[in-house]
Amino acid sequence: MGELKYRSLRGMPDIMPERAGRMRLVEDTARKIFKLYGYREISTPILEATEVFTTGIGEDTDIVEKEMYTFSDRGGKSVSLRPEGTAPMIRAFIENGFGNTPDIFRFFYSGPMFRGERPQKGRLRQFHQIGAEIIGSYDPYADAELILTLEKILRRLKVEGHQILINSLGCASDRKEYAKILAGHFNRHIGKLCEDCVRRASGNVLRVLDCKAAGCKEVSREAPEITGYLCGDCESSYRDIRDILAREGVPFVERTSLVRGLDYYTGVIFEVIHPALGAQDALAAGGRYDGLCSRMGGPSVGATGYAVGVERLIMAVPEEQCETGSPGIFIIPLEESFKPAAFRLVEKFREMAVSCDMDLTGRSVRAQMRKAGKEERDIVIFVDEALETDGRVSVKSMVSGEQYDTGVDDLVEKIRKDQ
Ligand SMILES: [Zn+2]
Ligand SMILES: [Zn+2]
Repeated sequence: MGELKYRSLRGMPDIMPERAGRMRLVEDTARKIFKLYGYREISTPILEATEVFTTGIGEDTDIVEKEMYTFSDRGGKSVSLRPEGTAPMIRAFIENGFGNTPDIFRFFYSGPMFRGERPQKGRLRQFHQIGAEIIGSYDPYADAELILTLEKILRRLKVEGHQILINSLGCASDRKEYAKILAGHFNRHIGKLCEDCVRRASGNVLRVLDCKAAGCKEVSREAPEITGYLCGDCESSYRDIRDILAREGVPFVERTSLVRGLDYYTGVIFEVIHPALGAQDALAAGGRYDGLCSRMGGPSVGATGYAVGVERLIMAVPEEQCETGSPGIFIIPLEESFKPAAFRLVEKFREMAVSCDMDLTGRSVRAQMRKAGKEERDIVIFVDEALETDGRVSVKSMVSGEQYDTGVDDLVEKIRKDQ
């Protein structure tokens, strides 16, 4: 094959069947858990007015500064591909009048997000997130419930070896107080900070704690911890969350250096890390963001949520959790003239919701058997004139190698029972 004429864009790979199957498994599992917990789905557009993100996420964040796909639409309006799901959710919440009545709302979403990052393992420019939000509650039980849904999703997917890291960033006034202390600390060690962090040390100073540069990490390690500056309310809700999680048997690790790269978080924040992803990336992250709704022109309500990176999560899902995707049953007509009867039998299984197919390339029976073996089918059904005359077929189990003749009705009954 010569040089490819067209390629997908860097960091935006096609999602081929095997990966699509794994992503579907993750999404179906999350949906089941969210349904159990009473979360309803909201699907917002992929494209939003740029201000939704500059206001929602904050101007002084990596996402808004460096990573957004922003362009002018045909009317000259600045629009952006969504880099995350929470700001659009809040925009939709306000726009659709949900904020007009005080109540608790549980929502989830799922879909592609876009960030112009340097593509590397676990980082794509088009990636997928599943997220959940509770809007309308300041109750620590809301935060704990969200973390529980996340843990349940991971358990259902048989993910092992993950760690839930939690911390509290305190309310706005706690952070103001802490930021002053932190700025003092970083300015005393300004020579060791990277170029970005020198600037951050006199602005969004908390973000220095998040920097991966060696010097910044070293200075951050000696920085005073936020938990020493929490007010009474923040301290007690942080303690309540930890107590609830402990009672419900959810293991977690307190990580006082944990901060989030988005401006909107207040109170408890959390991340899930897993060895399959390396040290840099979390497979899920979230926290409380009480100020966001009012900042975006809505009512002042408590809110908390998280997002799971689907491509990252599937790296942590055990291989055996994922199906190959080929149907279990493969039907082979032994001669061309038996094809109509064989096709009818394929349809009969499908009508019973039994996954089944046949080859349509005209290749030999022997070649079809090789295909069935390679694709790890459960059984192969051979069709000859006996299907028309006596309603009988020959069956080969690809697992045991056993071969037998049987009436189609008996076979259908057996497969129905096995399902
Ligand atoms: Zn506080
Ligand atoms: Zn730095």
